[in-house]
Amino acid sequence: MSPKPANTDVLIIGAGAAGLMCAIEAGKRGRTVTVLDHANKPGKKILISGGGRCNFTNTEISASNFISHNPHFCKSALSRFTQWDFMAMVNDYRIPCHERDPGKLFCDSSARDILNMLLAECKKVKVAIQLNCIIKTVEKNENSTFAINSSPGPFQATSLVIASGGLSIPKMCASPFGYRVAEQFGHHIWPTTAGLVPLTLQPHDRERLAELPGIAVECIVSNERMQFRDNLLVTHRGLSGPAILQISSYWKAGEAITINLLPDLDLVDVIKTRLATQPNIKLKTLLAEVLPRRLIPVVLEQESADKPLQELSQARIEAIARQLQHWQIKPNGTEGYRTAEVTLGGVDCNELSSKTMESGKVAGLYFIGEVLDVTGWLGGYNFQWAWSSGWCAGQVV
Ligand SMILES: Cc1cc2nc3c(=O)[nH]c(=O)nc-3n(C[C@H](O)[C@H](O)[C@H](O)COP(=O)(O)OP(=O)(O)OC[C@H]3O[C@@H](n4cnc5c(N)ncnc54)[C@H](O)[C@@H]3O)c2cc1C
Repeated sequence: MSPKPANTDVLIIGAGAAGLMCAIEAGKRGRTVTVLDHANKPGKKILISGGGRCNFTNTEISASNFISHNPHFCKSALSRFTQWDFMAMVNDYRIPCHERDPGKLFCDSSARDILNMLLAECKKVKVAIQLNCIIKTVEKNENSTFAINSSPGPFQATSLVIASGGLSIPKMCASPFGYRVAEQFGHHIWPTTAGLVPLTLQPHDRERLAELPGIAVECIVSNERMQFRDNLLVTHRGLSGPAILQISSYWKAGEAITINLLPDLDLVDVIKTRLATQPNIKLKTLLAEVLPRRLIPVVLEQESADKPLQELSQARIEAIARQLQHWQIKPNGTEGYRTAEVTLGGVDCNELSSKTMESGKVAGLYFIGEVLDVTGWLGGYNFQWAWSSGWCAGQVV
């Protein structure tokens, strides 16, 4: 005889940011809530986020900070549970935090403070969290409940919430589970790709930049669709740093990116002004005042770099400015899900309620967090999406 299923009002798959927030809100409404996760610990990504300090939200949040095939979908949830609502929770728990690079809020000491807060709230409302749990099958019963067969045994629930995240960092227990369940119930999935991810270089660029790992410069990185001003970092594998991670979410294979290494200067003007006072100064000496010295031979041919300013023609000066302020690089690819912070694409939002996150195809089935086709920029936007979407589902499950 098969064992009797454990009954719960709400079954949430995924004990990450979105799943825990949803569990807290459903628990506050008196629902019995069980969260299942195949990992051995809850909230693993919260712990590694923001370099261990969790950039948990941003003071400036709008739909324009998110990428989705339906750019309006995120608006309702973000306005119903805002960054200020999450910050109020953080303040209630007296978690020390600070703002960096206007808007980004980080814990002062550790991301664990955020996870501990979520787990304490779960405990208050008696949420059951079952870890090391392998989900074998998910089905909808004729009586409209959901039947879940899992390694610790069968469960039956009136609401099923999929909060299993995206594909980034398989080592952190990421899996395609949510997409498979969505497909099983007839949902469309937008193709997924790695976002907020370092870019790799073509062999000739990798060779040129081989001597530079560790160099960081503030620049504007752009393509035809978007531009970001932030730091670029050269690594052993290619290009990284916040400016590159941001543009990676808008990058398409085969496309070039443009890097303005001197975003605050009119280089032609600077060279001409200096020409008047120091005509014999070499171009590379002048450039070393505004760029890391080691970068100069990589972005400029030696012949120009070694020339005194007075030997540079107007046309050459303009070409040099173009080279440094419109440096074009065609990346080879990205580092992929192994190091990506997020997954672009996912469950099609057009098939869900933007107010409740409930499936328009299967009553009682909900999708929240990163499994959805909603991807935020770098800067706390992805967690805010997890909190907001989890909160909305938590009001109705
Ligand atoms: C290195 C790194 C740093 C980041 N830093 C930040 C940051 O500072 N700020 C920010 O806003 N965002 C950051 N992010 C992004 C952020 O972590 C995610 O967008 C967010 O965690 C998504 O929340 P989620 O609940 O949807 O998914 P997750 O937090 O990924 O949770 C999904 C849960 O589902 C579980 N699961 C998956 N598959 C299964 C399965 N088959 N069966 C059972 N359980 C399953 C997983 O174990 C996991 O616990 C970072 C991401 C990474 C990788």
